[in-house]
This record gives sequence, structure tokens and C-alpha cells, in this order.
Amino acid sequence: MDIAILGAGAMGSLFGGLLAEAGHRVTLVDIDDAHLDAIRRDGLHLTTDAGARVVSALHGCRPEQATAAPELLIVFTKTMHTETALTSARALLGEHTAVLSLQNGLGNVERIARHVPRERVMAGMTTWPADKPGAAQVSSHGSGEIRLMNADGELHAHVRRAVDALNSAGLNCVADPNVWSAIWEKVAFNAALNSLCALTQCTVGELSNVPDGEALTLKIVAEVATVAHASGIAFDEAHVVDNVRFALANHRAHRPSMLQDVLAGRKTEIEAINGAVVEAARAEGVSAPCTETLLHLVRLVDARASR
Ligand code: NAD
Repeated sequence: MDIAILGAGAMGSLFGGLLAEAGHRVTLVDIDDAHLDAIRRDGLHLTTDAGARVVSALHGCRPEQATAAPELLIVFTKTMHTETALTSARALLGEHTAVLSLQNGLGNVERIARHVPRERVMAGMTTWPADKPGAAQVSSHGSGEIRLMNADGELHAHVRRAVDALNSAGLNCVADPNVWSAIWEKVAFNAALNSLCALTQCTVGELSNVPDGEALTLKIVAEVATVAHASGIAFDEAHVVDNVRFALANHRAHRPSMLQDVLAGRKTEIEAINGAVVEAARAEGVSAPCTETLLHLVRLVDARASR
């Protein structure tokens, strides 16, 4: 399959590398010239539980240099860069191009649907993790899954093609009519852990150093559950609470991406996570006071970020 990845950082490079290894023709599209140059020169250094190797069958270009429209475009920029990326990579959006977002947060489909008809936009959620320790280097350990569905809820041929391509790369993908539940449940997990770690600079495990930390994470999960239910989304609160408790106990040293962004002086994805939950809460006339307070506090931290 002809596949382009828009935003080839940690996740985009992982997916691009695995899809290229599976025999697909993959183009990584990014504005990080050092990363693209190093991949062109030496290949992508990919480390997973299957071992460390170099993937050399990858093409790469900047968004404005893209010329050919792929069959599948996977968007993996941070959420606040989606629209700029899609605008400058207009040549990637052909008449038959299907676009998939596996980004965290809410509003991804709406942002993409400003550029591509909704019938060709797929919403998704992934639990695969990835890190990018340096240019042309990506690592991912442990297992994960992908759930996706077309934004209009229809199981179009391009949805099956995307699922098959992702499974051929070992990415454990299913077409799931309940994808919105999976997306909201991950948003709740991130709203609780990411924003608290970003503000306090605690690792995930350090949030349970005092009882108030865990209590606050569970309060946020409960708020997001209320907003999800008010928005008509089936939301399994007990499942999210289990996941949060598991992370507090077992991913003790983990620094969530929002904390990594703060430490690196970058803006966070707070608007697509807590911000979108608060917006949905207002629209449905329910309140989410802890989620909203964290939103305002992370906005203050973000205002100091240089990029
Ligand atoms: P990242 O910062 O490593 O990668 C984002 C890439 O987008 C960067 O390489 C950046 O240069 C590129 N970019 C920025 N502006 C661009 C533009 N205008 N045009 C083209 N490229 C542009 O981020 P990531 O960790 O790979 O996360 C990507 C998305 O996936 C986020 O929404 C994140 O929340 C989500 N996610 C991440 C993980 C993870 O473990 N890293 C897991 C699941 C979901």
C-alpha cells in the first residue's frame, strides 16, 4: 500500500518503520530536517521487543515538497500542529486518499474534516508507546493495539484496507464501531495523569506518594466519565480507574508526554485533552471543576513555552 505519515516523530517513525518493514511503500513527511536527513543517510534505527535494526526502505520529505497523494495518510503530528501540517501538505490529499488520526485527545476528526471529506476520515486510538531518543532513532517496548473506524461510522473498503495494512505490520488493529468510547477513555486517562504530572513534575508513580494525588486522578476520571455520558458516549469508568491504578503502581518512573513537553520548553496537548473535555462539559451543561482548574494551570505553564 502507498502510505504517507504526516508528523514522523516518535509514533510516526515507529509506524512508518514497521509498515515499511512489512513491504508497504512509506513516505515520512515532517518539518524536522535533521531527522529526515539522518534517515535518508543512514536509515531509521528502530528498536522494539523484536530487536534493534535499521529500516532503509523509507522515503522522506517536508510537507511542502510532497507531490504524490497516497492511498492512506496517517496523521501523527501533535494535535495543535494538525491543521498547519495538512495545509502545507495539500498535495498529499488526493481524491482517493483516506486519512487516519491516531493522535491523542478529542477534535482530531473535526480538524482533519476541514481538509478532507468526512467519508474519508478515520478516527482511531492506539495504546502503542514510542520514544524518539534522537534523530533517525525510535524505540517502542511492550505491546499495544489500535482501534479505528470511519468518522461516519461506515465500514468502507478503505477502513478494511487500513486495518489489513496495520495488521500486516504487527500493530494489532481492529475496526471498532465503539472507537469513540476507546478515544474518550484514553482522554480520561491522559487528562488525569498527563496534566497532573505536567504541573507537579512528578513521575506517574510519584503521584501516589500522597493519598491526595491518587484521589485527584480518580476525581478527574469521574469528571470525564460524566462529560462522556452527557455527550452520549458509552464510557467504562471502572476500566479507566483500573488502568490509572495499574499505571500508578507499575509505570512509576514514567514521564508522560505532557511532562516531557514542559521539561523541553514545548507547548503541550492540553487543549485537545482537558480543553476539549471542558468544552464538551460546557456544551452539555455539566461541570468538570478539577479538569478545568488543571486546564487553566497548564495553560499558564504553556504560556512560558518557547516552541
Ligand atoms: P512527536 O513530537 O514525537 O512527533 C510529532 C512530529 O510532528 C514531530 O516530528 C514534528 O516535527 C512533526 N511536525 C510538527 N509540525 C509539523 C508540520 N507542520 N508538518 C509536518 N510535521 C510536523 O509526537 P509523538 O509522541 O509521536 O505523538 C504524536 C501524536 O500521537 C500525539 O497526538 C500524541 O499524543 C499521540 N500518541 C503518542 C504516543 C507516544 O507514546 N509517543 C502514544 C499514543 C499516542
